Amino acid sequence: VPVQEFRELARGVDEIYADVLPNRDGANADYIPTLRDADPERFGIAICSADGQTYSVGDAAVGFSVQSTSKPFSYAMALEQLGSAEVHRWVGQEQSGGTFNDYRLSLGDGRRPHNPMINAGAMATLALVDHGKETSDRFRTVRGTWARMMGEAPGFDQETYLAEKATGDGNRGLASLMKAADMLKASGADGAALTADFYFQVCSLEVDAQRLAAAGATLANGGVAPYSGERVFSQETAGRVLSVMGHSGMYNDSGKFSGQVGLPAKSGVSGNVLLVVPSKRLAVVTFSPRLDAAGNSVRGVEVCKRLVTAFNLHPYQAL
Ligand code: GLU
Repeated sequence: VPVQEFRELARGVDEIYADVLPNRDGANADYIPTLRDADPERFGIAICSADGQTYSVGDAAVGFSVQSTSKPFSYAMALEQLGSAEVHRWVGQEQSGGTFNDYRLSLGDGRRPHNPMINAGAMATLALVDHGKETSDRFRTVRGTWARMMGEAPGFDQETYLAEKATGDGNRGLASLMKAADMLKASGADGAALTADFYFQVCSLEVDAQRLAAAGATLANGGVAPYSGERVFSQETAGRVLSVMGHSGMYNDSGKFSGQVGLPAKSGVSGNVLLVVPSKRLAVVTFSPRLDAAGNSVRGVEVCKRLVTAFNLHPYQAL
């Protein structure tokens, strides 16, 4: 992005920040204490371009667990390791229309979860990453890949991890059902539980809006990390990940969000939203814990809508 254009965008983000700040709609996720007790007033926005220009306003350096926004990146890692044909033997690429934690395991074609953005699909995908290796090695691979994207390793929110594990019966149940149906690449009596546990660990990686924006910029940049210039993912992988984010990144408001914003995005229950703007090769991350009924950050969705309107970024509205 030309420096001048980036500056204008930054100015626009400042204005949007001020306009959206008074919005106190929604409520924190409350299924675990760390999310329930997070300061709901927090609000930060960060932008990062493919060529490493950054801008941020508000609480953009406040840490939060990445939660579901880990899912597109875990999918990218699986694609890199195994290629799309093998990955899509285990997980689909269709919209589910259901909630992210759909325990009914309504499996699109009955052979695999709908897509890597819902929990069942995220676990089926993570089961493929460094398959067969020790959990510690697998975790190191995932954390290391995040470090390559962001130029700095993510932290780990131990309290969130323990709480996810303590309340994780639904996810463990999904993993068990998938394993029983030969839909989860995991072996042994504890294979399903270990997969769910790996998923909880990855959800508990700690980032902030600035660093997460650099991970998003890696996708916006066809797989090349913005600060180092290192290729982390192939162009094909980055493109596939953005496509799934485009239709399934915002829980069961994904279709609505696509109509309003039209850009690939992913949200997590800690209140983060990652928006990728492929035409400008940049990513925008918002952090604000209050969620709407679908589980998306209220302020985050509002920022995305305003940004797209202010800069004419909706790909099908700007024709
Ligand atoms: N750890 C959460 C769960 O699977 C992730 C929720 C989310 O961010 O969507 O329940």
